[in-house]
Amino acid sequence: MNAKQQISDAKLVLAINGGSSSLKFALFDKGRSLERIISGEIERIGSTKAKFSYRDGSNGPQKKHYLVVPDHRAAAVFLLHWLDQHFGLRGIIAVGHRIVHGGNRFIEPTLVTSQLLKELRRLSPFDPEHLPSELTALETFHRQMPGVPQTACFDTAFHYAMPRVAQILPLPRRLQARGVRRYGFHGLSYEYLMEELTRVAGRKAAHSRVVLAHLGNGASMAAVSGGKSQDTSMGFTPAAGLPMSTRSGDLDPGLIWYLARTEKMLPHQFNKMVNEQSGLLGISETSSDMRDLLARETKDVRAAEAVVHFCYQARKWIGAYAAALGGLDTLVFSGGIGENSPVIRERICEDLEFLGVKVNKARNSRGPGIISARNSRVTVRVMRTDEEVVIARAASLLLKK
Ligand code: AMP
Repeated sequence: MNAKQQISDAKLVLAINGGSSSLKFALFDKGRSLERIISGEIERIGSTKAKFSYRDGSNGPQKKHYLVVPDHRAAAVFLLHWLDQHFGLRGIIAVGHRIVHGGNRFIEPTLVTSQLLKELRRLSPFDPEHLPSELTALETFHRQMPGVPQTACFDTAFHYAMPRVAQILPLPRRLQARGVRRYGFHGLSYEYLMEELTRVAGRKAAHSRVVLAHLGNGASMAAVSGGKSQDTSMGFTPAAGLPMSTRSGDLDPGLIWYLARTEKMLPHQFNKMVNEQSGLLGISETSSDMRDLLARETKDVRAAEAVVHFCYQARKWIGAYAAALGGLDTLVFSGGIGENSPVIRERICEDLEFLGVKVNKARNSRGPGIISARNSRVTVRVMRTDEEVVIARAASLLLKK
């Protein structure tokens, strides 16, 4: 029996995690407690030099090549063909998809039907940056794999039961009826982190006052107590809260009118600016990647300023959430920056000693695990997040039902 045949006899669950210009995937073996077989990503969808990369399991060497995929439909078709060649599509018994926005209605993983697709299309204006491309990929998988159950997992669901005081936006009340409120995102990541925290630290610690900091290209924080989201920095869309790689985070709303008057900036241009040209990229004028900025900070004042601003804002949000929770017991760093950059973690935690946060240098440089000092009142942890496994678990659970 060859490798493809062995795998195609297995019961595989495929997790799809689409972004505005990317499509991440991971394939899990349901027969082996959802062991990860392969994961990968198509990046820069829409450009003439999209990149396809993948690795075996979680830590195998990365393999990559370039391809041309004009849109998410083409990316999904390419991926399906590639998976069929390497593993055989017949072995895939369920597919799970991350969907950024579930609005007020979708608060748990939901089986994909034509009706659901229609309703999600109606939600598209809630997040025009992400939802349309995610739905295009979802529809392509749905169509090309008839008979294979597909599950939609919503990034907003983790925050659904946030207290009303954290949900409402201080705008005219009539907008609430149209669904305008704080939803919050990164919910699949937060769900994973809370499950892991319970596993490694116990239920008591996970049910105490926790701040989760997901710091990646998109960055957000969640204030959690009793194991439930109490508040989160992203809002109606993922553009709110902390400064991010290219997103501004919170801004003065007065800027919209100011730029409309003085620069004749139109709403769609404003939207493009705050989503694609701001944050680390906007301040540094050179890169949205924290690694580049750290490499350049001693010789480029703009790069230095971007890094300082990011750390300062992150520290401010931790302080705000400690106040919202009435204290802090655990702080978790995650996401590409949170997981991989000891220097950023150290700078964020600087001057937080008054809150009981004390990072140990040696532990911090080692990475995942506890990085706080033994005498730190707050336990500070670095945890690798895994949105794809949350998607795969939901897809295989729905299969059972
Ligand atoms: P994510 O969106 O979670 O995949 O995070 C991606 C971002 O993590 C990249 O754009 C980098 O800015 C950041 N990142 C990854 N590795 C490092 C590192 N070693 N140091 C600083 N930032 C990093």
